[in-house]
Amino acid sequence: MHGMDWGFDNTFARKLDWLGAAVDPVPVSAPSLLTVNDSLALELGLDPQWLASTDGVAHLAGNAVPEGAQPRAQAYAGHQFGQFSPLLGDGRAHLLGEVVDAHGARRDLGLKGSGRTPFSRGGDGRAALGPVLRELIVSEAMHALGIPTSRVLAAVATGEQILRADGPTPGAVLTRVAASHLRVGTAELVRMRASDAQQLAFADYVRRRHHPQVAEGDHLGLIDAVVEAQASLIARWMSVGFIHGVMNTDNMTLSGETIDYGPCAFLEAHDPNAVFSSIDTMGRYRFGAQPSIAQWNLARYAETLLPLLAPDPSTESDLIEAATERIRAFETRFRGHWLRLYRGKLGLPDALSDTATAALTDDLLAIMLAERLDHTRTFRLLATVLRGADRAVADLVDDSVRWLDWQSRWLANVTTDPQSTADAMDRVNPAYLARNHLVEEALAAAATGDLAPTEALLDVLRDPFTVRPGLDRYAAPAPASFTAAYVTFCGT
Ligand code: AMP
Ligand code: MG
Repeated sequence: MHGMDWGFDNTFARKLDWLGAAVDPVPVSAPSLLTVNDSLALELGLDPQWLASTDGVAHLAGNAVPEGAQPRAQAYAGHQFGQFSPLLGDGRAHLLGEVVDAHGARRDLGLKGSGRTPFSRGGDGRAALGPVLRELIVSEAMHALGIPTSRVLAAVATGEQILRADGPTPGAVLTRVAASHLRVGTAELVRMRASDAQQLAFADYVRRRHHPQVAEGDHLGLIDAVVEAQASLIARWMSVGFIHGVMNTDNMTLSGETIDYGPCAFLEAHDPNAVFSSIDTMGRYRFGAQPSIAQWNLARYAETLLPLLAPDPSTESDLIEAATERIRAFETRFRGHWLRLYRGKLGLPDALSDTATAALTDDLLAIMLAERLDHTRTFRLLATVLRGADRAVADLVDDSVRWLDWQSRWLANVTTDPQSTADAMDRVNPAYLARNHLVEEALAAAATGDLAPTEALLDVLRDPFTVRPGLDRYAAPAPASFTAAYVTFCGT
């Protein structure tokens, strides 16, 4: 089939051919289009109208392989909830190839839910409609919040029912776009299985593709770069209240993008102990644990590079010390990003010291926890305080003395004109969020064939900072009873 030049240029297939299996997507019986992301298509140099055509949909469903694609299931390993699994890999995903976008960035295009592969183990290789649309909604929301993330180019229904724990459910395939799909878990597999030459080739591939500022052969520099990318990413998650839910090493990229949206959720009331995932019974991946988990995962990454750092065992202990230093630096890197983000969220001047910024932020978050204040809306209300609504938050809390004490300390540190500070705060604090109840409402409608709520929600979330009339319900917190009972399930 023809119709569109995709412009594939597949360096992974060329250079790391051994890191996976060449395997085509498995066709589905009756593909139909759910959605195409027009602006992302254009960014990739693809024709959105063609993608939405019958021919296009066949390609998006895996019923036809695009010209120039070299479908592959990538192999990887990973630590899942702390336990090492030596062979995971794409059990229901096919990398199609790479496209260089309008900004010159190389991006992976792949299908998810596209059928069984040599890595499927007991799985059916498929994805259910609900989780596919959830990934679409949440990843678009994250992108609009300025957070590095994989994107969804398109979603199609398969016309087939698949079996899940709660019975038969419609299947879907999504087209995922990512800086790459290389994970900490990929490096773990390479470390375990690959030859010396292959290990070197893999490290150099990661360096050139994602961290080209690092000099060739500078493996400590590569650790630094991955640590920095993740420190920046996780600080952004912590600023918006995103809970990934399943931060296994196979779900953490080497590029620094958010990937593998499964049982993810956003905080409502601020709470470091918030967990929504049904499988995270110990709270390993609770909101407040995400920075330390990221650091733990990065230590697993650094371990994969040790053989390259120390081909000679006599130098090993020094190099382990040097690598450990790089991992420890995650804390200061993360802290720097986190402080910068919260300084902006609170409208505090750049010149305010880290200590003063941290004290104000920590005290605010402590009050938000104690008073069950909404993690998102509180920051918008603070801007209204600057606009004269002195009691915008005070009227919501039980302990208004404690609140007003914090508020006056904060106001004393807001040194620029209150109106322009409030406007600047509104440019970084979203009014609209992919709140869990809104996402569930959209998915419930989609399950009955009504995609209008999904499209409406996407429209709101694609511009989360600008308040528009008629959208109040997208800004309001969920009823507390909803959040107390809310559980997310893995995206299978
Ligand atoms: P996840 O927890 O979604 O990141 O997936 C962990 C592993 O399970 C990955 O290797 C997936 O490819 C695999 N997997 C998840 N769901 C399925 C499925 N329905 N069929 C086959 N493999 C799956
Ligand atoms: Mg995964």
